[in-house]
Amino acid sequence: MPYVLRLFDPWRNPMCTCPPKYSLSPYTGCGHMCRYCYITSYIRDGFKPRVKENFISKLLIDLRKIDRSIPISISNSSDPYTPQEYGLKITRETLRILASRGFKVIVLTKSDMVVRDIDILRRGMFTVSMTVTTIDDRIASVLEPYAPPPLSRIKALEMLTSMGIPCSARIDPIIPGVNDDPRSLAKLISRLAEIGVRHIASSTYKAKPDNFRRMIEALPEKSTLLRRLYYDEGYIIHGVRYLPSKLRLDYMRMVKEIVESYGMTFSSCREGFRELQSSPTCDGTHLIPSENPSRSRISLDDYDVDGIGYVSP
Ligand code: SF4
Repeated sequence: MPYVLRLFDPWRNPMCTCPPKYSLSPYTGCGHMCRYCYITSYIRDGFKPRVKENFISKLLIDLRKIDRSIPISISNSSDPYTPQEYGLKITRETLRILASRGFKVIVLTKSDMVVRDIDILRRGMFTVSMTVTTIDDRIASVLEPYAPPPLSRIKALEMLTSMGIPCSARIDPIIPGVNDDPRSLAKLISRLAEIGVRHIASSTYKAKPDNFRRMIEALPEKSTLLRRLYYDEGYIIHGVRYLPSKLRLDYMRMVKEIVESYGMTFSSCREGFRELQSSPTCDGTHLIPSENPSRSRISLDDYDVDGIGYVSP
């Protein structure tokens, strides 16, 4: 029985199209406190992140037993750059261990703190997937109150791609009446293409009772619209409330069209629209380099990595 490295299993969700991967989370819980987050439905004190006990020792034991051909996804039920990481550096040590042993890794985050670890990322088999739900600071500050602002995340992506680290982005979740403005999405997507992002995954907001309550508290003016779409017209799949399928398909088609017009690949996430996918994997793991090349085109000295915009709350 593994201690901290388990095969990714999204509760046997039939809508998930992810390829095989291991899931690794140095932290239990997440401090970004996104209104739409679902971890509070299954993690006690989900918004109070804490490091897993003896995490590094357990990781070293698990790494001896796993299939090295399967990538490791860090993290799925927390952000590996949750605010505590700024001082604790557990994720940094984890990446150092994985790089030195030649594991394939996808790093999922919403934080520009990831650029602190560029020195490790550029030496290993890594790809980074950054979630950017909107280009609008005001909307992001409501939806993701303790995550770094969108422009900091975009700047971090630009630094990563400039250093030769392959990156994807997640525009996820799209929420009706909140971050679904086509012009704003087009502006975000064109910027992501311009800075070298290669793949975009997107999905619509899925409602659970606790995240829906937080959404309505944060966005009372959207209450009527969201209740109608999710509770009157929407339906339940695998325990979560979805938008009507026609609306979901319209959103995903719109994003796909813009994404592909800029030469990037597209996938939806847990929407049931496999036919829209134009990439080898939905989650961006296909971007992990197959070997350990020296990928730097620009010196690390060209960047003020200490001066990133990350602000510890
Ligand atoms: S970053 Fe992810 S895990 Fe953390 S609160 Fe936001 S949605 Fe939840």
